[in-house]
Amino acid sequence: MMNEEIKSFTDLIREVQTPGLCGSCGGCVSFCSAGELNALHFGSDGFPEYADEDRCLKCGICYLVCPQVKVLDHELGQRFGWEGPSGPYRSIRSARTTDTETASVATDGGVVTSLLVRALESGIIDGALVSRRTGPFSRQPAVATTRKELIEAAGSHFGETAHLGEMGNAYTSFVPTIREIGKLRRRKLERVALVGTPCQVYSLRKMQLLRVVPSDAVKLVIGLFCMESFAFNEETRSHLGEHLGVPLDDIVKLNVKDDVILTKSTGEEIHVPFEVVDEIARPACLACPDFASDFADLSCGGLGSPAGYTTVVIRTAEGDKLYSNARRGGFIEELVSSDREAAVLQRTTTVAKITSFSRRKRERSGHRFGASDA
Ligand SMILES: Cc1cc2nc3c(=O)[nH]c(=O)nc-3n(C[C@H](O)[C@H](O)[C@H](O)COP(=O)(O)OP(=O)(O)OC[C@H]3O[C@@H](n4cnc5c(N)ncnc54)[C@H](O)[C@@H]3O)c2cc1C
Ligand code: SF4
Ligand code: SF4
Ligand code: SF4
Repeated sequence: MMNEEIKSFTDLIREVQTPGLCGSCGGCVSFCSAGELNALHFGSDGFPEYADEDRCLKCGICYLVCPQVKVLDHELGQRFGWEGPSGPYRSIRSARTTDTETASVATDGGVVTSLLVRALESGIIDGALVSRRTGPFSRQPAVATTRKELIEAAGSHFGETAHLGEMGNAYTSFVPTIREIGKLRRRKLERVALVGTPCQVYSLRKMQLLRVVPSDAVKLVIGLFCMESFAFNEETRSHLGEHLGVPLDDIVKLNVKDDVILTKSTGEEIHVPFEVVDEIARPACLACPDFASDFADLSCGGLGSPAGYTTVVIRTAEGDKLYSNARRGGFIEELVSSDREAAVLQRTTTVAKITSFSRRKRERSGHRFGASDA
């Protein structure tokens, strides 16, 4: 890679934006070396564009950190000892929070929030980059520095009185958390955790590989499983409504595990296969190869665990330390199986599901990571 010609934002326009693959994560704008000079900004459509091309230093950082650009995969794979198809791991567990307040708002088992609370209270981090609810259907990237703020960021319920039918046309389940990293130094935060989708974890790890400041302030990365994010507009809303055969007004929660789970106000769940919702996925997501946040310290999802539990893939020594610390401290508890045979079956099934979803997503994207990616 190092001998290749340096590419710039002009190449991102040609290779990523023009083919419709830009996910509007904002990494290129937030980490532009000419940030002080305002070379890039967000256009009125929410996508990045040149504010003034003459101010571009042609350094290539924006190009390299973009999640749709794969030229650093070899270096990244070596750094993390990547193995196909779902990245390296030490162990896989099913666990849940022991805190009733967190459990009542959590997406799955509330493990992500409880790990963050433990990390904060034991001084491992002084804040976490999360996605904060700002309205019934709006979330924004935010830095949480207290237990209260971490718990407020948990979950995927829409809101006390909100339902899918009220959702604005510009709603997307993707939240560009990575944009907040640029603001860390200003807030004098030097040890933070990041919670993000695989694309954001991938971008962050590339920034760290390139030593782009202040990505070094991110000491702990909790990645989420992610098959796709949805973008709602008039057309996709009516497509979903037709397939569901129930009014969107009645849907109060959206979660994703083996399939997409929509919960009605009565508590009844409707399971929608990915094949149906693929049509309302963002184009950037259909080109995305990473399901299980392969480069995180810990990856979390609902897939493979019973309701009320989070599946946790422990990948690195840092991730292992925090998970064990939280478990020993009573912040989380593991799923107890009736006997040893049941425990082995549960674990084998979970590994098989993560492997299968990772393969499926990589095949859908058409992207292979390396020789071991079969
Ligand atoms: C866009 C998206 C797609 C997902 N797809 C799948 C999937 O296909 N299969 C699967 O098994 N699991 C998927 N997950 C993960 C799953 O929904 C849960 O987030 C995960 O199991 C952790 O649950 P928890 O109860 O431990 O987390 P909680 O304790 O509820 O904490 C959730 C954390 O995630 C953060 N968060 C919420 N929304 C976002 C967002 N849009 N972007 C970044 N961070 C966010 C919150 O700030 C909070 O810190 C997805 C999550 C997201 C955000
Ligand atoms: S200065 Fe560097 S990071 Fe900024 S737009 Fe130009 S090439 Fe991209
Ligand atoms: S995907 Fe992100 S980094 Fe790439 S061009 Fe779009 S906003 Fe920039
Ligand atoms: S599918 Fe990929 S690009 Fe889309 S939100 Fe998930 S990780 Fe990001």
